[in-house]
Formats: sequence, structure tokens, C-alpha cells
Amino acid sequence: MMRVPNTVRGMRDLLPDDLAKRRRVEAVVQELFRLYGYREIGTPVLESYSLLSAKAGEEIRHRMYVFKDLGGRQVALRPEMTASVARLVAGKLRSEAKPLRLGYFADCYRYDNPQMGRYREFRQAGFELFGSSRPEADAEILLVACDLLRRLGLKFSVKVGHVGILRGILNAEDVAEKEQNVVLGLLDKRRLSAALKTLKALRVSEECLDIVKALQRIRGSESEHVLRRGERLIASNEAALTALRNLDTVLRLFSESGMNGPVLVDLGFARGLDYYTGMIFELYAQDLDIALGGGGRYDRLVECFGGEATPAVGCSPGIDRIVLAMERQGLFPEKLGLGTGKAIVVPVGEEQIGLGLRVASALRCSGVAVTSDVALHGLAEALGTASKAGIPIAVIVGPKEAKEGAVTLRNLASKTQSYVPLNEVVSAVQRLL
Ligand code: AMP
Repeated sequence: MMRVPNTVRGMRDLLPDDLAKRRRVEAVVQELFRLYGYREIGTPVLESYSLLSAKAGEEIRHRMYVFKDLGGRQVALRPEMTASVARLVAGKLRSEAKPLRLGYFADCYRYDNPQMGRYREFRQAGFELFGSSRPEADAEILLVACDLLRRLGLKFSVKVGHVGILRGILNAEDVAEKEQNVVLGLLDKRRLSAALKTLKALRVSEECLDIVKALQRIRGSESEHVLRRGERLIASNEAALTALRNLDTVLRLFSESGMNGPVLVDLGFARGLDYYTGMIFELYAQDLDIALGGGGRYDRLVECFGGEATPAVGCSPGIDRIVLAMERQGLFPEKLGLGTGKAIVVPVGEEQIGLGLRVASALRCSGVAVTSDVALHGLAEALGTASKAGIPIAVIVGPKEAKEGAVTLRNLASKTQSYVPLNEVVSAVQRLL
């Protein structure tokens, strides 16, 4: 016998329960699109390599699925969505009124090392806010990200920083942007000594090295205290100070909203994407050391793709990891109960199949989820299978019922039944549910 083929390494099949969980999370995201005014967009999975690689950051760039299509174009599967959304805002949505709020769901692809919570095909949602450089826009993105996790019932914290602090320090030493990106990428991967080595090779001052090192230790949940320590450390660098004050304002607004989440301010925090220019953050669930989502401000990306200068801030919650965290925290009911329906219509013989289909249609028209028995293995077997699947009601259509224009309604839990005329089936079923 032929062996059943496996999925490609890092790719997953999603079984009904997996997808039911995903849809639960997505329904809340969709509700937040509505509540916060984000309009949903879609872009292709396949984009030109040059677009996706322009500001992706080294780590993501070298994990992209890149190939030439049959027309000889260098293309790639998107590793994330921000570049594609920025492309839209630079082009087709150029003349939309700002601020412009866009939301999305997207399957993304990275040749990551498959492990718990890390896949080669994964799903992101996203909220992107274009056209405001004000701190309340940053606060809104933090709010919506935390609102999502709170609505899902997750215990979580949010780690917040600002790339302007480190960039300010490195700019003062004339470290070129490209090299800064390398250093920030290493810090993102918590490789402090490699980052310091790179900086030493660039001949930055001892003071700069000390500040970069010290920044890595300035973090905590008392944001006032953390920010004051940071202020003393970078007192002589005006650009870094401006970044720190901006972070201070964002965090104050976030807190004043009354909807804020538990915050960890981390002044040495960096993210592996080159396009960030301001506040950055990541979401963490208790007991899970991988980020559930991340985001930040990226004021130059739209311009980089030929659009007008457009400040922007956004976030992308990772749906798969949110599902994982919810499983860990026991937030899904044991039986998701989707797809089985509330009733089954069972024709007893060949002659009653047509009437059975008509009764099922009438029930669906009134909004009752109903399956039709399509096995015709006999009444006992149909009722047994339905009962096991947790379907509460069977609508039995036998020869006597068909002749008399009626059905038998059976409550599969209490095993009681009643005889109901056809024109009363819908209301009788609804009464039982
Ligand atoms: P990033 O675009 O790197 O900021 O990622 C945003 C979010 O996408 C992360 O916080 C994860 O939740 C999710 N994510 C990124 N890479 C993967 C992956 N390989 N597998 C599953 N989820 C991922």
C-alpha cells in the first residue's frame, strides 16, 4: 500500500478544532476592526522580492522563500504584511483621507526552525494606522493590541521600548543606518556581546559602549522609575532624550485611557525589522517565552516605496501563538461544538429522502443548523451516531409521518419524543433548543 504523504516540513494541516480555535480569535479581531474603525484589506501572498526585502531586516530577509517565477521575476512569499500595506498606501490608497486605518489577516511565510509556536507558514492579523505622528496614534495601537488579548481572556504583559533611543546614541557616533540595523538585529536576538563586538569594530567610543550595555539593564514595570533612570543615562544626547520623552507620553496616554495592560518598559529593547522609527512593543503571555504579537512606529516606509511622507504605526498579533497561549491558559471549551449542528433530519427509507431534505431546508431558513442523514443505514444507527456527536435533536421522517404530513421529533438526551405536523416543525424545534 502507498504510504500517506506527509506535509512539507514546517507546514501544518489545520484540523476542524484547530480552525475553530483560529476562527474564535479572528472573530474578536474582526470585532475590533469594527469598533476601532479599521477597514480590512487583502494583498497577494506573492510579492516582488525587492519590495519585501527593502526594509525587512537581515534576520527575516534570509528566511524568506525566494524564487524566480516562470517569467523570470524575482519573487517571494510575504514574511509579513507591513511592506505590502505600505505599498498600497504609497500607491492605490495615496489619496485616501488621513488618518487612514487598515486591518488585515494574512498567511505569512518564513523559513524559521520549526518548533513550538514557530512555523514556516503562520497567520498574522494586523492593525495599521497611517497619517498621524502623534503619540495618541501609538497609544491607540497599544490599546487595540491589549484589548484583543484581554477580550480573549489571556493573562499577558506588553514590553515597550523606543528605537529612537539606541539610534540616537549610535547616530551621535556616526554609525551608518545599515550598521545600526545589524546592531539592533543582534540586540533583538539578545546577542549583546555580538552587538558590542560589532560596535567596537566600528570604533565607537567607550562611553557609547557603556551606554548600550547599561540600556540593556534599564527595564521594569515602574515606567516612571525606568524612564528617569534612562533620562540620567542619556542626558547628553538630545535625539535619544526626545525619543525617551515621546515614549513617556505614549505610556502616559496608554495609562490614562483606563484600558491599559500590564507594561514592562525596556530601554534596550530592539526589534528585528529595519523599518521601525519610534515606539516598539511586543506582547507576551504568562509562561510562554515567545511573542504573541509585535508592532511599532514606522514613519518612513511609505516614502521608501515612492509615496508621500506618511507617518505610520501598527501591530501584528500572531494568530497561531495566541491560540497556543489560550490553549495553555485553558481558555477554549473542551468541545468547541462547531460544525455538528443542532439537529439531524433522518429519513427512514428511500421514499422519505425528498421530504427530509425539504424539512432540513425549512429549518435552515429559520436559522437552525441542521445536517441531513445521508447514510441511510437505518434509524438506530443514525440516532446513535448523532447522539455521540452531541446533536441534541433528531427529526425523524418515516413512511407513516410522510403520509400524514408530520415528523417525529426526538430529544436525543432525554430520549423523549413527540409527533409534530409539518407546518409546526420549525417552531417545535426552536422551542426545544
Ligand atoms: P514580526 O512580524 O516578526 O513582528 O511578528 C509578529 C508576530 O507574528 C509574532 O509576534 C508572532 O506572533 C508571529 N510570528 C512571527 N513569526 C512566526 C512564526 N515563524 N511562526 C508563528 N508565528 C510567528
